[in-house]
Formats: sequence, C-alpha cells, structure tokens
Amino acid sequence: MLRQYELVERVKSYDPAADEDALNRAYVFSMKAHGAQKRASGDPYFFHPVEVAGILSDKKLDCDSIITGLLHDTVEDTVATVEDIQSLFGIDVARLVDGVTKLSQIETLSDRAKQAENFRKLLLAMSEDIRVLLVKQADRLHNMRTLEFIRSAEKRSLIARETMDIYAPLAERIGIRDWKEELEDRAFAELNADARKSIVKRLQFLRENGGDIVGKVTSELTQTLADKGIEAVVTGREKSPYSIWHKMRRKNIGFEQLSDIMAFRVVVPQVQDCYRALGVIHGHYRVVPGRFKDYISIPKPNDYRSLHTSAYGPEKQRIEIQIRTHEMHEVAELGVAAHWQFKHNLLTDGRQYRWLRELLEIMEHAEAPEEFLEHTKLEMFSDQVFCFSPRGDLMELPLGATPVDFAYAVHTEIGDSCVGAKINRREAPLRTKLKNGDQIEILTSADQSPSPNWESFVVTGKARACIRRFVRSQTREQYNRLGQEIIEKAFRREGRKVVKKTLTSVLVKLTCRSVDDLLVAVGQGRFTGEDVFAAAYPRTGRKRQRLAPSVKGISEYAVPIRGLIPGMAVHLAACCHPLPGDQIVGIVSIGKGITVHTRDCETLSNFIEMPEQWVDVQWEVGAEDISKHVSRINVVLANRPGSLAALTAVIGQYEGNISNLKINDRSEDFFEMQIDIQVNDVQHLTNIIAGLRVDSAIASVERAQS
Ligand code: MN
Repeated sequence: MLRQYELVERVKSYDPAADEDALNRAYVFSMKAHGAQKRASGDPYFFHPVEVAGILSDKKLDCDSIITGLLHDTVEDTVATVEDIQSLFGIDVARLVDGVTKLSQIETLSDRAKQAENFRKLLLAMSEDIRVLLVKQADRLHNMRTLEFIRSAEKRSLIARETMDIYAPLAERIGIRDWKEELEDRAFAELNADARKSIVKRLQFLRENGGDIVGKVTSELTQTLADKGIEAVVTGREKSPYSIWHKMRRKNIGFEQLSDIMAFRVVVPQVQDCYRALGVIHGHYRVVPGRFKDYISIPKPNDYRSLHTSAYGPEKQRIEIQIRTHEMHEVAELGVAAHWQFKHNLLTDGRQYRWLRELLEIMEHAEAPEEFLEHTKLEMFSDQVFCFSPRGDLMELPLGATPVDFAYAVHTEIGDSCVGAKINRREAPLRTKLKNGDQIEILTSADQSPSPNWESFVVTGKARACIRRFVRSQTREQYNRLGQEIIEKAFRREGRKVVKKTLTSVLVKLTCRSVDDLLVAVGQGRFTGEDVFAAAYPRTGRKRQRLAPSVKGISEYAVPIRGLIPGMAVHLAACCHPLPGDQIVGIVSIGKGITVHTRDCETLSNFIEMPEQWVDVQWEVGAEDISKHVSRINVVLANRPGSLAALTAVIGQYEGNISNLKINDRSEDFFEMQIDIQVNDVQHLTNIIAGLRVDSAIASVERAQS
C-alpha cells in the first residue's frame, strides 16, 4: 500500500504547488473515519481509498481530485458528513465527494434497465465536474482489482457486467486507454473466465514458440526508421486477452486467423515525422489493405490523434502500428486527465469538452437524441437499442425493435391503438428498425386495432404476445361473422330463415360443440352453407344450386365482407388487388377463410372445377371505409427529364399514395413501370388512371391484371 509520504511526494513531483498540508490531513481523516472497517479481502478498508488516490496520481490529477480519492467513501460508509468535509477541505472537495457519493448510492443495481438509469446519472454527475467521473472510474478500477474477494458470484458478475457496459466505454470516451483496457479485461475474466484462459494459454504458447517477437519487431522497426533518419521511440505489446476476444467475435474468426495480436507504437517528435514514418513503413513492409486511418487530420471525438496502419512486419506477422508525436501520445495515454493537469474550471475551458457539453445539452433538451448514445460509443450495448419518448424518457429495447415494439413497451393500449410513428419527428413505417438515440412518437387512434402482419416484424415478446392474443380473438370473431353470413345466404336461397334452434339441431350431425363452433367452422370453410342447410333439412334432397364462375352481378345471396379485417377471415388476392367497387368473387379455402378476387381475375380459372369453393361476396355498400386498398397499375412513361415527376404529381394530385414502384423495363425512349397505389376504391383508381392518361409524358396506363 502507498504510504502517506509516498503519495504526497508523488503529487508534489508533478504539481509542486499542491497543498501538502491538505493531502496529509485528508489521508489521516480518511484513515480515522474508516477506523476498523474491513474490505472483503480482509484488508483494512482504508487501503482502498489510498489505492484510489494512487491510481489518480498515476494520471497526474490535481490535488483536489487526489483528496477526493482519499475521502470518496467517507460520507457513504462512515459518520463523516459533506459539511464536515466542506469545513475541513473546502467547497470544491466537498462537492466532488458529494458527487461520487451520489453515484455510489445508485450503484446497487439489479437489472439492465437500472444500468441505463445509472448511466444517465453518471453522465449528469460528470457533467457537473468531470473529476467526479475520474474518481469514480479509479474507484471502480480498484474494486475490479479486488473483485475476486467478493464471495457472491452473482454480485461479482453484476459488477463485472456494469464495468463492461458502462465504465469501460466511458473510460474510452474520456480517452484513458489503459483504464479502459484493464477494466474490460478484468470484467472479461469474471464474465467469461474460460474464454480468457484459453486466449492467455494460446498467447503463452506463441511466446514460447516464437520467441520474443515483440522485441525483434521493435528493434527492427527502430532500425528501419533510423536508417531513413527518423528518430523514433518504438514500443510494442501484446493486445489484451479481451481485445483479442472482442475482435475474434466481431469478425467471427478463429484465433489462428487473428494474426495481428501485437500492436506497436512509433512516437516521433513532429507531426510531419508521423507521415514520414508512415511512408517508410509502407515502403518497407507489405501493407494490409484498408487498414490505414488518419486520426491526425480527423481526430476522434475524444481528441485522440494518431496514424493507424497494419502491415506484414519483420517476422511476417501481421502487426498494427500507431504513429504519433509525444504530445499526441500524452493525450492518448491520459485522455481528459492530460488537459486537466493543474488546470481548473475545465468545463469553462471549452474546446476539449465540447462532446461533454453537447451530451449535456442533448440530455437537458432531448433536442437531438439521435446523437446521445452514438457519442458515448457504448459498443457493449450492441444487443440493445436505446430510444426516447418525446418527453425524453429512456426506453431500452432489444436490437431490431420497431416502433410497434416501442409502443407496446410503453403500454399495451398504446400498442393496440397504434396507427403510425414519428421517428425523430418524421413519419416512418411501423416496421422501421429503431436506432440508438431515436426519438419515437407513437400516433394512436381509438378505432385502430393491431394488424396481424405486425407479428412478422416485431421482436419483443410483449408485442408479439399482445398481437397474437388480439389476432386470435379477432380471427375467431371474424370467422364467426363470416360463417353467420354464409349460412344466412345459403338458407335464404332455399327460402328459409336461420333460427338458432335449427342450428342447434345440426350440431351433433356436423360434430360441432356449439353454435359458435359451427359458425366458425363455416367461416373457415370446413363446411359450406349448403352443408348446414342439408343437415337441417335432409329431406329437401334437391340438387343444390352452386355458385359458379358464370354468376353475374351482385346477388341478394352475396356475403357482404363488411367489417371484416383483411388478413384474418378475409384476404384480398394479391394477384388482382380487388378494390371496393370491383365485381368480386370469393374463394373459400379450408382453414383460411375467403380470398377475394376480381371477377375477371385469371387465377379464378384454377377453381372452375371446384364450384364448392366459390362464394358470392360483395363490398359493403355505403358505409365509411377508412382503410386504403392497394391497387396496381402498369405505366409506360417517356424517358425524359421531368416525366417521373409529372407521373407522381398526378397521382399525388388525386390523393393516391404510392406504396411501391418498380421499373420493369427501361429503353432509350420509354420506361415501363409497375406502381402500387393505395386508393379508396375502384372509382378513385379510375380517376387516377384518367388523370394520368391526360398527361403527355405518360404513354399508356393500365390497371394490372394478375
Ligand atoms: Mn470506493
């Protein structure tokens, strides 16, 4: 453990103006406050704050940060108060300790949703003073170093998970690379001990067999650069087991294929030396294509600057090389801390913390939330997406989630009445996959109900269960209504009325348990209306008249398809896209209900031999039909500027909505395209077609037949 005088000397070595007296008092205060408390390791508790202060001094942090490191657990775990600390160490230290304490209080986490909340609080806390985050990170680092002493495996893994998800990415974000790597690797050892062990073993094997490759490459690189007159400090290292594992997983490759397990760093005096060194390396070794990155011209958001390249190095090994100046190196190693040294009021210092201020603004106003998590680079949340409600509430969803999932996650009722969505204030299809930071507004309507086809794109269990439950009950109801209509028409054709008693009397014969079952069975096409009639009046015996393809016009025996939701008991054929107003006919298929075709649809010829499957159907007359129907037209369009614009203008003018557009053929003179338009009914479509025919850019328009 770091002794009192060692710590003070370390701080004085980089900050001669440090308040030695305050450091000494803080050391003693913390020691006394923690008294006989013990860590899980059995060590005196006081060792922990001293180690945290030591970690902070490695980054040459200012005196207040070191004092905060020493005191960070006193308010949380001892009788000391923030007021005590303020009177002894001043307002700045008191605020910092208070900030760290508040973070600790939310640390007792149990699930992923809470983690997201913790993350928000972390951001808020560090926005007040970045040093709160630095102390918290150092605290976490030491806790990870001593994680093995915690007896509960569940607790260890929760801490490791949070470290991986939040602390490591944040360490990267503030540019402290070695903290990030150590946090990740220690969390990895807890979360996936076997994987880490096998990687460590493999690295050991390579070392034993290949000898000191790092050393060989380092000296050869140094020599090669020196030969060209470039004075460079070259260092090399093996990558951490976690970063190797992460790469293997990300690229989905095995260890053997992952050859660049070593990284080398070339540090040179001037910026122009970086590019010269790059030239020498590229001239000397075979470059791995596509790996060069210039973070000097375009620094990373955390101010990291360097040139990155990959080459087949001296030992024919694939190696990664980073080239930078001493100054860039300092920033890369210390990150935020590099700017922090001896400077105060960093947040007002500007430039360096633009990202933090932006983050803050985003959180405060939820104006541009799409940048929120993207900026924080939370790669470890890769199996989740975080979205916001218009009020700025954070919602955590699995990757691939859609606005419908979002709606159901908010509330079942919102999901059930969802009609559309705005993503980042723009209308977007309900099947759109959400991205991190999206702001979602769900548009609802009281008379909307879930669509069966939502099930094909939702990813959350809740959404799927709700849609299924709705569809199941609705479908049965729809089959029931359809069955009722079919039976009524069949009976009317025979001059009889349907009474419940009659239906009850046929249940046994038709092996149905209830009238409801019978109606559903007829709706599903398991029995025809005539079957029911024959069961009810067996002696009538005359050959039943069947509906045939020759039937013309709307008959009074036709089944109205009013109130039937397409996709459940009734389906509109995809071959002919029937529209309200079209002459239609239904084809019953068992278990599926009725598929509606236009009377002239060619598909119907397949059913000529199966008259029992035909049902006379008719559109509901006169009722408000708010749903749109998809129709398809074939258009031949002059191939000249503006003709496509003219086409879409006409369709828009008639309030048709293009839902799909496909170019089938494209010659010098003409385009042939197929356009799907949502229309109200056949009259609406006819108007659009007439409008298009008037336009000179359009050579021909036909409604698509099958
Ligand atoms: Mn602590």
